[in-house]
Amino acid sequence: MRVSELLKQIREPWLKRASHSLLRGEEGREALDHTLSRFYDLLLQAIATGDPGWLKPILVEWASLRTEDELLQDDLSLSPVMGALVTETLAVARQNLSPEETNELIEALMPIFTYSYTEIARQEIAVRVSYVTAKLVNVKDELERLDRSKSDFISVAAHELKTPLTLIEGYAAMLREQIKKEEETSPLVLMLRGVDNGTRRLGEIINDMIDVSLIDNDLLMLSFQPTWVNRVVELLVEELTPLAAERSQEFTITPFDGWQEMTYADTERIHQALRNVLTNAIKYTPDGGRIEIGGRKLPGFIEVTVADTGIGIDQEDQSVIFRKFGRLGAVATHSSGKTKFKGGGPGLGLPITKGILEAHGGTIWVESDGYDEAALPGSIFHVLLPLRGEPPDAKAARLFQPVHDTTEI
Ligand code: ADP
Repeated sequence: MRVSELLKQIREPWLKRASHSLLRGEEGREALDHTLSRFYDLLLQAIATGDPGWLKPILVEWASLRTEDELLQDDLSLSPVMGALVTETLAVARQNLSPEETNELIEALMPIFTYSYTEIARQEIAVRVSYVTAKLVNVKDELERLDRSKSDFISVAAHELKTPLTLIEGYAAMLREQIKKEEETSPLVLMLRGVDNGTRRLGEIINDMIDVSLIDNDLLMLSFQPTWVNRVVELLVEELTPLAAERSQEFTITPFDGWQEMTYADTERIHQALRNVLTNAIKYTPDGGRIEIGGRKLPGFIEVTVADTGIGIDQEDQSVIFRKFGRLGAVATHSSGKTKFKGGGPGLGLPITKGILEAHGGTIWVESDGYDEAALPGSIFHVLLPLRGEPPDAKAARLFQPVHDTTEI
């Protein structure tokens, strides 16, 4: 108990020195003195019981009182405070006690100070981690809110644009009727063709905007029907061959084992997804290039690959292109058409394709050695689609099931 007595003996000078070492001016002195005297009392308890844990509540309290500015800084600012208290204890003991008493006191206080240092660092880190976590949650919420408002905007804009577009289409149709009756060779016919092309393209963009907002909001409805991927691809190649021919490009199909297998899928949506991949292959491949379609059967899946001899895609952009508006800055596009070389669109095609495939339980990814308009490394898009022997939707499944006797229930 001698150490407790020694500690009690130096209480007053310790409080004075510690207080002046930690605070220069007078503002806040009373509160500081109060907290230092609480610390000292707990120190006495720790010495008396041999349990440094007595100090924990005040250390936790100090760590939690840190300001936002302090939390943003990297250093642990309570450790210097603890350092100052240790130094002052040593100085006060030396001034007021004999060397033997000082040694005895310091020896007893050392484990308590070590505990305090460790605890203070632990508490500070815990407080900082929870502060940073809260900040991250805020940022995540904000990003989600922004993404939601972007998605809301797309949906509202698309629906608002649809009405005037229908009006333009209606009036264009009426004009076409008028012109037919008067004269077929009129320059107005040419102008009307321009209006038709413009409205068709605008309609496609609006439909893409609607699809993106359906996918964003998990509202894409699939109608599963027996689907033969080979037939969808062959149909698309037939449809796109004239466009590819304009660019002197050639399609080749290499059938593979499983190529002709039936699966349940939304045929129209799969057609749309593969159409996006194939028109991109035309768009991002210079005139005279090749587009090769192949694939393989995997356990439970069919994988279709579309390889082109085009400009390729940099490694770091290979995930960006599947995000909304993921057009690449490095690729200088122009909006002159769906299949013209680098005739860029709004950057919605691949996110829609990915959304459609994921809604089916499949996915899409790309492989490319990089973007190079001179060397033309090309890209290979991999489309993975589950092979389903029956539609996944329970209601639809019942419709396709053979009728059986239910009377025994
Ligand atoms: P966009 O309307 O711009 O074509 P997509 O979503 O279809 O939008 O494609 C996004 C971007 O991915 C394109 O702008 C292009 O930079 C890149 N890209 C897509 N397909 C290919 C390809 N086959 N070769 C090279 N780049 C491609």
